[in-house]
Amino acid sequence: MDYAHSAQELVQLSYLAAAFLFIVGLKRMSSPLTAVSGIRWAGVGMVLATIVTLLYVGLGDNPNVRLNVALIVGAIAAGGVLAWVSGKRVAMTDMPQMIALYNGMGGGAAAAIAAVELYGGTETSTTHLVIATVGGFIGSVSFSGSLIAFAKLQGLITKSVRFGGQKFLNLSVLLATVVLGFLVVSGAGGGSAAVSLFFVFALLLGIAMTLPIGGADMPVVISLYNALTGLAVGFEGFVLDNAAMIIAGTVVGAAGTLLTQLMAKAMNRSLGNVLFANFGESSGAAAGGVTGSQKAIEASDAGVMMAYSQKVIIVPGYGLAVAQAQHKVWELAQLLIDKGVMVRFAIHPVAGRMPGHMNVLLAEAGVPYELISDLDEINAEFETADVALIIGANDVVNPDARANKSSPIFGMPILNADKAKNVIVIKRGQGQGFSGIDNALFVLDQTRMLYGDAQAAVSQLIQAVKAAG
Ligand code: NAP
Repeated sequence: MDYAHSAQELVQLSYLAAAFLFIVGLKRMSSPLTAVSGIRWAGVGMVLATIVTLLYVGLGDNPNVRLNVALIVGAIAAGGVLAWVSGKRVAMTDMPQMIALYNGMGGGAAAAIAAVELYGGTETSTTHLVIATVGGFIGSVSFSGSLIAFAKLQGLITKSVRFGGQKFLNLSVLLATVVLGFLVVSGAGGGSAAVSLFFVFALLLGIAMTLPIGGADMPVVISLYNALTGLAVGFEGFVLDNAAMIIAGTVVGAAGTLLTQLMAKAMNRSLGNVLFANFGESSGAAAGGVTGSQKAIEASDAGVMMAYSQKVIIVPGYGLAVAQAQHKVWELAQLLIDKGVMVRFAIHPVAGRMPGHMNVLLAEAGVPYELISDLDEINAEFETADVALIIGANDVVNPDARANKSSPIFGMPILNADKAKNVIVIKRGQGQGFSGIDNALFVLDQTRMLYGDAQAAVSQLIQAVKAAG
């Protein structure tokens, strides 16, 4: 008896230790310099929580201990293999949909815990049932919504589904789910049927909410579902009386909420606007409006221009990620630094396709963190830059966001690359950015286009800078 009691205490203590490791891991993930070790710290926390859970299951008085342990080990093996293979294979540019999928799984797992409790749990206190139901609701919405977000980003769903009365329908589904949730908690009728319907409607709500949202807003939506998944896990942590789940869920919920706010702010949108205004698709319709023609430059001329500059600001964007040009870019920067040129990297908060996308790539290539500045730090410096070198970036340097009230991205903070004395833009052709609009920067007098794949074009620049002596 005493042994069992001490073992239970050990289990709870270990959960606290695991939660502590999650928090340390998250803290370290906030800087590219320590991010990799942060993932390891959190990973150790996860392993500890998993081992302790096996111990917890073993200590319980459930007669199916062996079966439960076998199920857990089987689930870990299947999930581990799938995660390992997909993690190894996924391209950096496909990371957003991968995150959407993982988020969805977290929400689904929380909903599954709720389902076990609501269908056959032994605990009948109202508080317990309310917490399980709320967690189940949030987890289900996050699960089905994340799967739709994944399908959209993966190109499996190509159109945003919109029709008259859609908001009314969504509201009706929400109300039906709330009423069913109330019936489940109050035990007022329906039994298992009410529980099943409750989950069906919650899942439908996630689908209905996400289907009309356009592709450009998907990363914000994914971040929102990440926050919701954390919240659902936290709720189910209370249901299972599991400190690690409560703390980890709360931390993920808070981090996801902050990230959602940060991204919405960087795109000058409110969350309500993202969820209900259908921005992502309509923006394409307003493309155009830019007059003037783009002027090309040869790599040899661009190389000389940079080699004899005092200050060059490099602006990486989505195209750099597609071309995997980060190592070449750092090679170019080092060459310039050796020639006495001051080189800075300017990162827009939504450059690329997910938050921190560019920071991760540059850190991977070994670019020192001191050379990387965010929008607020660097924007005043463009005026004193001889060259702004834009590599595969488009929307985040579009001056229309500052000056053209009719532009769909008007109001979005941008990097002021147009204020530099010379602008060199590397891109493959006349392709538009994520928002599907033309870019006024590309036709300015001081702008020259270096057409080509980012990696090949930067390699040519390296040769040109070397040749400049
Ligand atoms: P962008 O506006 O999507 O533009 C990328 C440019 O890269 C394109 O114009 C394309 O032109 C060029 N490109 C593509 N492949 C290339 C290659 N292999 N080599 C060279 N160039 C290539 O990118 P961004 O400036 O980074 O802006 C990010 C966009 O994503 C913003 O609209 C932002 O709102 C949106 N977004 C980002 C996040 C986030 O968290 N980061 C979240 C939500 C939304 P060509 O086809 O002519 O080559």
